Amino acid sequence: MLSIVATPIGNLGDITLRALETLTTADAVVCEDTRVTGALLHHLKIPKKELVSLTSFTDDAKVEWILKRLEEGENIALVSDAGTPGISDPGYKLISRVRDRNFSVEVIPGPAAFLAALSASGLPINQFFYIGFLPLKKGRKTLLQSLKDEELTIVFYESVHRIEKTLTELAAALIEQPTRPVVIARELTKLHEEVRRTTVADLPEVAKSLTKKGEFVVVLGPVQDRGGSS
Ligand code: SAM
Repeated sequence: MLSIVATPIGNLGDITLRALETLTTADAVVCEDTRVTGALLHHLKIPKKELVSLTSFTDDAKVEWILKRLEEGENIALVSDAGTPGISDPGYKLISRVRDRNFSVEVIPGPAAFLAALSASGLPINQFFYIGFLPLKKGRKTLLQSLKDEELTIVFYESVHRIEKTLTELAAALIEQPTRPVVIARELTKLHEEVRRTTVADLPEVAKSLTKKGEFVVVLGPVQDRGGSS
């Protein structure tokens, strides 16, 4: 059985009972960075486990090796460094190959930074568009421009190194929509959690004044706030 296990995005209290049980009983844990997952398991007081690293660069031979172990009846847990595997993280290739072979898969859902940000944003979120990380070069300008007409709430990830540049470019792309709301969520579930609501007009100033530490999610309100029903 392959168990896809979501882990906390900062606050260890967000681990679920099912995640604890699954990680404790797994024969091996497939993860991104064995040091990160090793530290997580240690904090969660889970007995030492075999950790197998799997990144987006992992070759097919290793994926095959994991498939063989599943075929032999082992219980393998898949985690990422934080949050939900496959959400702007590795996991897709393995899960898709396991599905192709019709092996059993279960999911142990839990935190994902974009869902936490949406839910804290106060923007309409009955429908939204998750775009992961913006492209760094090719397609970046076109994507930013396309947000002018987007009728859904948009949510995306950004790194501390690019947050100011990206917010400044977003403000420039949406200059004709000065009142459109933007929410910047930083360090969600952690000690320095911060959720700032602003508008496109004020975004360049806010971008400059942000504490440039930690992890960020940006939520952009729809072109016309149609007001969610809940
Ligand atoms: N799989 C993860 C998930 O389910 O959210 C996302 C992994 S992605 C490689 C990492 C990005 O998620 C960070 O650059 C940041 O944009 C966002 N992120 C992760 N944890 C966060 C947190 N505690 N607060 C704000 N953003 C976070």
